[in-house]
Amino acid sequence: MFAHGCFWHGHKGCGYFRIPKTRTEFWTEKIAANARRDEMAIQALHALKWRIAVVWECALRQAPEQTLAELAGFIRSDRSYIEIRELK
Ligand SMILES: [Zn+2]
Repeated sequence: MFAHGCFWHGHKGCGYFRIPKTRTEFWTEKIAANARRDEMAIQALHALKWRIAVVWECALRQAPEQTLAELAGFIRSDRSYIEIRELK
């Protein structure tokens, strides 16, 4: 299970993710590298047939009980992947 902070992991389209106005180039590259590393880790775990849950900070902030219920549902299921993010 990955618990991603929306800023550090560059959650696209999320209200908690915004590149800082100072040192913009540094932060853009840093966060893009984090996102690439996340993607590589997920692909590697998929290749090993691991089940993967990605839980975003925004989901936990917005609806912690629903997020945990979704995660519990995933754990009991036979699904191989879930990504839980804020509701729109
Ligand atoms: Zn988010």
